Amino acid sequence: MTLKNSRQMRNSPMSKTQETVLEINLKYLTHNFDYVKSKLADTTKFMAVVKAFAYGNAADAIANHLQNIGVDYFAVAYTQEGVALRDAGVTKPILVLHPQPVNFKLLIAYGLEPNLYSTKVLDGFIALAEDQNQTDYPVHLKFNTGLNRLGFTENDVDAVISKLKATNAVNIASVFSHLVASEDTDAYDFTTTQIQTFKSICARVSKQLNYAFLRHLCNTSGILNYPEAHFDMVRSGIGVYGFGNSDKENNNLIPIASLKSIISQIHTINAGESVGYNRAYKSDSVRTIATIPIGHADGISRTYGNGKGFVSIHNKKAPIIGNVCMDMIMVDVTGINCKESDEVILFDRKYTAEQLAKTTGTIAYELITAISQRVKRRIVK
Ligand SMILES: *Cc1c(COP(=O)(O)O)cnc(C)c1O
Repeated sequence: MTLKNSRQMRNSPMSKTQETVLEINLKYLTHNFDYVKSKLADTTKFMAVVKAFAYGNAADAIANHLQNIGVDYFAVAYTQEGVALRDAGVTKPILVLHPQPVNFKLLIAYGLEPNLYSTKVLDGFIALAEDQNQTDYPVHLKFNTGLNRLGFTENDVDAVISKLKATNAVNIASVFSHLVASEDTDAYDFTTTQIQTFKSICARVSKQLNYAFLRHLCNTSGILNYPEAHFDMVRSGIGVYGFGNSDKENNNLIPIASLKSIISQIHTINAGESVGYNRAYKSDSVRTIATIPIGHADGISRTYGNGKGFVSIHNKKAPIIGNVCMDMIMVDVTGINCKESDEVILFDRKYTAEQLAKTTGTIAYELITAISQRVKRRIVK
């Protein structure tokens, strides 16, 4: 590299987009963490949910940043996700929400903490922990209070606790459950019943144990809508990434990720010409079409094609036309003053992932977690 080139590189603005990139802003992450934390009592612990690559963002950078700014606990879905966090330098406790017995050895080797949600999983884990001469290995008990997904029922409390009291190998670090419809104001009565059931389960566990454990129930919307149900810890995922599941809360949070790309090429087509595979788009007039290097292999599903989804270019909306290809989309930029290499926004804090998701009837959770590992992550500090 010549001196001139290296100087140019140093002087060029970091933010100039030259390819498809998912830009992750750690300042916004701090803002969201602080906002969610401001809803908690000082003694309530904060568990950040960083499963699925921190909701598609970048689990290593996000977990390390959250660890530095004071998160107490992490949660992932699967054992391998916890292993990756340990390899990335995360030292805080990590709850594995949905471990499979086949991974228990690995889980213990990396000091991860399993959710024990069924008799089979409980028995399997105790047997292994005893076999390894573990003492007081931290485990978490999940109870089903209505979601009917994972967990023991209230009727299982006595049997579960007597098994746990019969061994020194494990120690109950927490008892938890998960809300069914915490974002849904129409489900207030159902949620209140869940909270009551959870309280009753915790009281029964507590009565039989001579040591303390953490109780936790709320996800992000639970934290925001049910302050009376924070217990000892809360579990926030979507909130720390900048979505509050309501217009009101979205105003208090900042989406941390911007999915950006560029215009690779521009074509002008005449009436009667088509764009993309299977001629799914046919023009009825002269149109200007831009090709963008992002496709369904990057996480922009085919459902966004044929005029449903859109991108923004110079703050103007350009609909995705025709079928989404594996590596490309074509958008209609007729009337937008743009040229090849110009920046394209798929979503950012203004054109949010939630808005784009809505164009196909899905939710921000699905869109952001789908952004594939092929897309380069750029961390902004
Ligand atoms: C994913 C998950 C969360 C996080 O929910 P958000 O709505 O993203 O805050 C919390 N608890 C459990 C059990 C989960 O699976």
